[in-house]
Amino acid sequence: MQKITTDISAAVKALNRDEVIGLPTETVYGLAGNALKSEVVSKIFAVKNRPFFDPLIVHIGEISQLSELVSAIDPQLQKLMNAFWPGPLTVLLPRTNKIPDLVTSGLPKVAVRMPAHPMALAVLRQLNFPLAAPSANPFGYVSPTSAVHVQDQLEDQLNVILDGGDCAVGVESTIVDCRNNIVHVLRLGGISIEEIEECLGEKVEVELSSSRPAAPGMLDQHYSPMKPLHLIENQNQIPATAGLYGVISFGANLTGPIQFELSESRDLIEAASRLFAGLRYMDQQPVQAIYISLLPEQELGRAMNDRIRRAVIKSKGI
Ligand code: AMP
Ligand code: MG
Repeated sequence: MQKITTDISAAVKALNRDEVIGLPTETVYGLAGNALKSEVVSKIFAVKNRPFFDPLIVHIGEISQLSELVSAIDPQLQKLMNAFWPGPLTVLLPRTNKIPDLVTSGLPKVAVRMPAHPMALAVLRQLNFPLAAPSANPFGYVSPTSAVHVQDQLEDQLNVILDGGDCAVGVESTIVDCRNNIVHVLRLGGISIEEIEECLGEKVEVELSSSRPAAPGMLDQHYSPMKPLHLIENQNQIPATAGLYGVISFGANLTGPIQFELSESRDLIEAASRLFAGLRYMDQQPVQAIYISLLPEQELGRAMNDRIRRAVIKSKGI
């Protein structure tokens, strides 16, 4: 059977049979299943080999679904949801007992998002339950931004991978929480801090440490390719002894025998949509090492730099 498909009804049927599927979203591809059934949620953890302390985001297709999932909505988060949903913004809200403990790793709040990808929305709107959906990659590896990326790693464990093309955003959602009337950004992602502060008309706290119990999944080590990944400031830092190496460049800031360009015109949105594809591309090349530099620390560049730093920490490259 052809696993990669554009047949939305095949995806809906599989989800109604309590299967987990590959689901396109505008951020990355998700590994999706019924968020309200513990046994389905535990399948998601098993397929990904994800530790149970790392909670999942619940995806909805309609605002009206919130009333059974959460018990209150902070006014500032409501404002952000009005502005950015459907889209790459995840909000933490106090959960009802409809949500299995497994979804939130026992935490009192649940992470909720309404994705903007038309196929994800179409699937969600044909189901009568929300979907828990972490990225469709083995835990710790680079997130998938195409149906083929999902197939490459999880084909044996899935019957349906819905193909919605390359992800337009390419980095995960921005996660926000509200405590004592102050909005905290717990993960940088597809909606920038600049956009959030402009919408709210106030400053937010940025709190990205992996040691905070508020977002236990923000592990320091994540998103790592198999090949050693080195963070450098300029071309001169590539050693003469580097052998066959690859560079991931931004506006040709680095060059090398094997090169993956994120954006010739130095466009951060284009670069974000290509970052994970670039890391995967290098893993498939015969290179001994990968070199990359940080991007401008603004807008989506911040979210990309966050992913790059975590990828470098885990990699044997340091
Ligand atoms: P993802 O890896 O895109 O599936 O996003 C999951 C991440 O969202 C987790 O690793 C946490 O950082 C965060 N998250 C999800 N649910 C919660 C929750 N209930 N409370 C705090 N953070 C959460
Ligand atoms: Mg992930």
